[in-house]
Amino acid sequence: MMARRTHIVGAGLAGLSAALAVTAASGEALLYEAAPHAGGRCRTLSPAKGFCHDNGTHVLFTANRRTMALLNAVGARHRWVEPEPAGLPVHNARTGQTRCVGLSPWSWLAPSRRPEGFSLLDLGSLFRLAFSKADRPVADLFDRRPIMESLIEPLTVAVLNTPVRLASSQRLGCAVRRLLRPGSGHLLVARQGLSADLVEPALRTLQARGASILNGQRLRAVLTNHGRAIGLALSDRTVALGPEDQVILALPPWEVARLLPELPVPERFEAILNVHYRIHGLAVPRFIGCVGTLAQWVLVRDDHVSVTVSAAGAVIDRDGDELADRIWREIAPILRALGLDADAARRPETRVVKEKRATIRQAALPLPQPPLLPLGNVALAGDWIGSLPATIESAVVSGEQAVAALDHARRARLPAAIPHSLKVEDAA
Ligand SMILES: Cc1cc2nc3c(=O)[nH]c(=O)nc-3n(C[C@H](O)[C@H](O)[C@H](O)COP(=O)(O)OP(=O)(O)OC[C@H]3O[C@@H](n4cnc5c(N)ncnc54)[C@H](O)[C@@H]3O)c2cc1C
Repeated sequence: MMARRTHIVGAGLAGLSAALAVTAASGEALLYEAAPHAGGRCRTLSPAKGFCHDNGTHVLFTANRRTMALLNAVGARHRWVEPEPAGLPVHNARTGQTRCVGLSPWSWLAPSRRPEGFSLLDLGSLFRLAFSKADRPVADLFDRRPIMESLIEPLTVAVLNTPVRLASSQRLGCAVRRLLRPGSGHLLVARQGLSADLVEPALRTLQARGASILNGQRLRAVLTNHGRAIGLALSDRTVALGPEDQVILALPPWEVARLLPELPVPERFEAILNVHYRIHGLAVPRFIGCVGTLAQWVLVRDDHVSVTVSAAGAVIDRDGDELADRIWREIAPILRALGLDADAARRPETRVVKEKRATIRQAALPLPQPPLLPLGNVALAGDWIGSLPATIESAVVSGEQAVAALDHARRARLPAAIPHSLKVEDAA
C-alpha cells in the first residue's frame, strides 16, 4: 500500500496540534516552518544580550479543553500554574483600590468576588451575551453601565483583542458560555515561559513519535493539478506529493491569500503591545488586572515583569521608550504593593515587543471564511478559522479539525468495503 504522509506547513500552535493529531493516530507527519524556530506567535525571545521573556504574556483558561488535552498529551499540564487561585486582583488607578474578582460567573454569587459596580441588571445582559443568536458590538449590550469598565471591556479586549465598540458579542458569548462550565474559570500562565512550557514539550513529543520538523523552510508556492496539490515549493527544495499525501496549511490569513489567491480570508487585524521590565520579581508568578491605565495586565515573574496592552491600535505606532516610561510609572505603585523594589522615577532595563497583526479583528460582522478543504488533499488550519475567539484554543481546535476533515474526505473517496459477514448475493 502507498504510504500516506501529512505535510504540515507552519509550526505555530495550529500546525503543532495538527502534527500531534496525525502522529497520535500513528500517521506520518512532516512539518515545515519558515522561521528558525517553532511556536509562531507563541514564543520565548532569548536575545544575545539581556533577559529572556515571552513575546507577550499568554494566559489559558481551564475552559480551553482541547488545549488542556494537548498539554496533557505532551506532558506539560503541570508546567501551567494558576497565579491567582483566590480570584483575579484588579487595580483601579482612579480609586487606588484593588478588588479580587472571580473569573467564573458562578463565583459572582458571592458579593466579595463580584466585579466593581456589578448589579442584578447586568445578569440579564450577560445572559443575552452568552445565549443570543444575534451578533452585535459588545458595547451595545452594556452601554455605559459600571460593569463595562470593571469587567466587560477588559474581558473583551483580553479575549477578542478587538475594541469593545466593534467586538463581536457572539464570539465573546462563546467564551462566557465556556466559563459557565464547572471548573472552567481557572486562569493559567506558563511557569517558566511559552517555549519551555508549551512549544518544546510539543516538539519533543513529535520527535519521539517520529515526526520530521524542518525550520527555515518557507512555502513559496503550492503546485496543483486538477484540484489537488501535487507539490510544495519550499525555500530550498520542492517536495513532490504522492497520490495519498495530504497537506495542512497552518498559516496566517495573509499567507493563505498569497498562496491560494482565490480564497476569501479576513483582512483586518489588531495589535498587541507588550512591555517587559527586568526586575527582581517573585518566585511564584502573580497576575494583576489594571483599570484606568494604558497597562491592562501585569504578570510578575522571578526576573521580570510583563505588561500587556491588547487592541492597541491607538498607541502601537508611538515611540516605544515613551510607552515604556508611561507604563512603568503606572505599574510601579502596583509592584510596590506586592513588595517589589519599583521606583517610578527609575525605569529598569526594558524590552518593547509590538505585534501589529497579533490576531484578526473579531468584529460583529460576518468574517470572510474559506472552505476548510480548498483543494482535494489540502486543509486549512489557524486560530482565525472557525467561530471561536482567535486564541491558542482555536488554533489547537483548527489543527485537529483539519486532520479530521482530510480523513473524512479520504474515507469518502474510498470504495465502500463490503462487511465480511455480508454475502455478495445478500447485497444484490
Ligand atoms: C502578544 C500576543 C498575546 C497573545 N495572548 C494570548 C493569550 O493570552 N491567550 C491565547 O489563547 N492566545 C493569545 N494570543 C493568540 C495566540 O498567540 C494565537 O492565537 C496562536 O498562537 C495562533 O497560532 P497559529 O498556529 O494559528 O498561528 P501562528 O502562531 O501565527 O503560526 C503560523 C506559523 O506559520 C509560519 N509561517 C508563516 N508563513 C509561512 C510560510 N509561507 N511557510 C512556512 N511557514 C510559514 C509562521 O512563522 C508561524 O510559525 C496572543 C497573541 C499575541 C501575538
